[in-house]
Amino acid sequence: MLLARKVSAILVILLCTCAPAVPQQFVDNATERRIDSLLKQMTIEEKVGQLVQLSGESNHSTPRLDEMVKQGKVGSVLNVVGAEETNAVQKIAVEQSRLKIPLIIGYDVIHGFRTIFPVPIASASSFDPQIIEQAQRVAAKEATAAGVKWAFAPMVDIARDPRWGRMVEGAGEDPYLGSMIAAAQVRGFQGENMANPDSMVACTKHYAAYGAVEAGRDYNTVDISEQLLREIYLPPFHAAVKAGTGTLMAAFEDLNGVPATANHHTLTDILRGEWNFQGFVDGDYGAVHELIAHGVAQDDSQASLKAIIAGLDMDMADGAYSSLVSLAKSGKLAMPVLDEAVRRVLRIKFKAGLFDHPYTDLQREQHDVLAPEGIQLARKVAQESMILLKNENDLLPLKKDVKTIAVIGPLADSKADQLGSWASNGRAEDAITPLEGIKTKLPQAEVLYAKGVDIMSMEKQPLAGAAPAPSTATGVAQANTGAGASIDEAVKTVQKADVTILFLGELAAMTGEASSRAYLDFPGKQMDLLQAVVATGKPVVLVLESGRPLDIRWANEHVPAIMQAWFLGVQSGNALADVLFGDASPSARLPLSWPRTVGQIPIYYNHKSTGRPSSPDRWHTGYLDESKEPLFPFGYGLTYTTFKYVNLHVETPTVSSTGMIHVSGEIQNTGQREGTEVVQLYVHNRVAPTSRPVRELKGFTRVTLAPGQSKAVEFFIAAQDVGSYDTDMKWVVPSGTYDVWVAPNSAEGIQGTFEVAAK
Ligand code: BGC
Repeated sequence: MLLARKVSAILVILLCTCAPAVPQQFVDNATERRIDSLLKQMTIEEKVGQLVQLSGESNHSTPRLDEMVKQGKVGSVLNVVGAEETNAVQKIAVEQSRLKIPLIIGYDVIHGFRTIFPVPIASASSFDPQIIEQAQRVAAKEATAAGVKWAFAPMVDIARDPRWGRMVEGAGEDPYLGSMIAAAQVRGFQGENMANPDSMVACTKHYAAYGAVEAGRDYNTVDISEQLLREIYLPPFHAAVKAGTGTLMAAFEDLNGVPATANHHTLTDILRGEWNFQGFVDGDYGAVHELIAHGVAQDDSQASLKAIIAGLDMDMADGAYSSLVSLAKSGKLAMPVLDEAVRRVLRIKFKAGLFDHPYTDLQREQHDVLAPEGIQLARKVAQESMILLKNENDLLPLKKDVKTIAVIGPLADSKADQLGSWASNGRAEDAITPLEGIKTKLPQAEVLYAKGVDIMSMEKQPLAGAAPAPSTATGVAQANTGAGASIDEAVKTVQKADVTILFLGELAAMTGEASSRAYLDFPGKQMDLLQAVVATGKPVVLVLESGRPLDIRWANEHVPAIMQAWFLGVQSGNALADVLFGDASPSARLPLSWPRTVGQIPIYYNHKSTGRPSSPDRWHTGYLDESKEPLFPFGYGLTYTTFKYVNLHVETPTVSSTGMIHVSGEIQNTGQREGTEVVQLYVHNRVAPTSRPVRELKGFTRVTLAPGQSKAVEFFIAAQDVGSYDTDMKWVVPSGTYDVWVAPNSAEGIQGTFEVAAK
């Protein structure tokens, strides 16, 4: 082939997500017969018991919980952790309950169990599903050693709104990237076989469209079109189902007028009807009871009936499903509906091997937790997760022979914040802070430290009628009483040093559940610190630790180098030092569009063109007072070298709607250092039954090139994967012209076209 002669190597990537849904392998005759036999022996109380999930307290069981387990009134517990603790409660189920059905024990194992990896939005920035799969394998090994067989993860909610605190838990704004990462996580948790002692059942959440909450306010309403639901929000869930996720968790929100907890359309029509999902669906914490507050049920009994009929099999934490007993006895709940839910729960318990191996080997906890390979992997994932946003005059990487270095900022030496939110069983003492990492990296240098300011913790705005609290631009601030933080002292420290690394951002607790923000600015007085440090005229590197993109317009104009680090986990400080001082290179890319200001939200690269995309005058879509473009586009990120994209070849100028599209482009490393480029493939269908996004990601790969080296990257995509839903929600691949880009991000690239032939 022509390209092979011109460049040193060819990389072939086969990408195809269109394969028909692989039927889940959960149903086999032998297991179904064992379930039949159990169902025949079960009383209504015992059946309902399998659908009730209750929480321990502070990771321990309670006497009340133990008693209910003994009576067969509980099928699952959460928040009971540790081999001894879990074995103890399991022993009650297996040895003291009448039918000896084991419990399935769940926990929030989101980005690591004890070895905490970068938060999910960070690891998604790696565009490296393989390493994410390996990380979740480590998490599964550790969690199962502590008796936890079920991870409430992956969280695969697409998020287009950084005000929503839970953006930190997912893979960002793109359904294709989100799907690849969702599937990788399911494979990581479940391994080859869920029944293996070091594998756990995945619980893909929050089904569905939780990330679309209005105004970015957690738990808020979602009202979106069926097309948006199917094209943007559902794909990662479908990918997780195809990858074999054993369970899903329904979302909290009201979805198009029917709360996700009781939404027959999503829970049954789509999930079971269209996708053939054979596992079970858990409710989110207290969500069945919350159907009353949603205003679709008057009491727990009605709420439970609605939820189980819609397809929700298990009820988390609120005990509302206990009312299914009288509903079943009175005939209001048909027995086949109850039996089907119980069957699904038992099926996963069988597939997870719980009937054969209910207990955890006590020895494992000692050697499977915080193992050196896991720590090493956590460092690698962290290196791959930080995004270089700006690097004027190649300030980074910093020279290791620097004499005096100032490490400044409220996050520079905060252990707990390195872990991020949902840090599972992680401990602050395990985390390496940036200050510690830099000191270890530069034993010869003088490393000076000043905190500069404290970050104010935030409390929710008072409810109407409550006494007003003093308000600041970032919400109601509570003074953090930490002593010794002073901007003056920080400035003096900066003046003594050759170079400064400034760590600013959010506290981990400002991200995650119930952590929506109305502003994207730096909480507290951090902006004052930033401006004072920059005013010294000394070289400054700004490292951002946050769970969302912050408003950094000022920083972007005045600071020469900016790195988005999110929250990088236990190895945060070491990985940061590796990258800042050039022992590793930044290679991550933005999994979201970085807004300039909160007023642009929601902002995402795969938006529609509109009828007036641009014009020289004002009569086009945009703002009077701000650009409509993001500060940094989806897919963007710098390296320590430069890459050039040339020679786009569309090898298949015309394809049938069932054929394969073959596109290649050549990537050249034109800089002085080795670097890893994330090569992205985007497609745009020019004419379709419904308006199409201006671009859609359809492939990506990481390519490492030495200085001067070139590689042709080839993409193969099934034409079926470039289709869309028509107005009847039928999947079509319209004939006609498609644009295609091989690109470094969603706003650039080398472009060509191909045709899908009419049938
Ligand atoms: C969250 C879930 C989590 C569950 C159990 C809920 O509040 O929304 O993501 O898995 O609690 O802790």
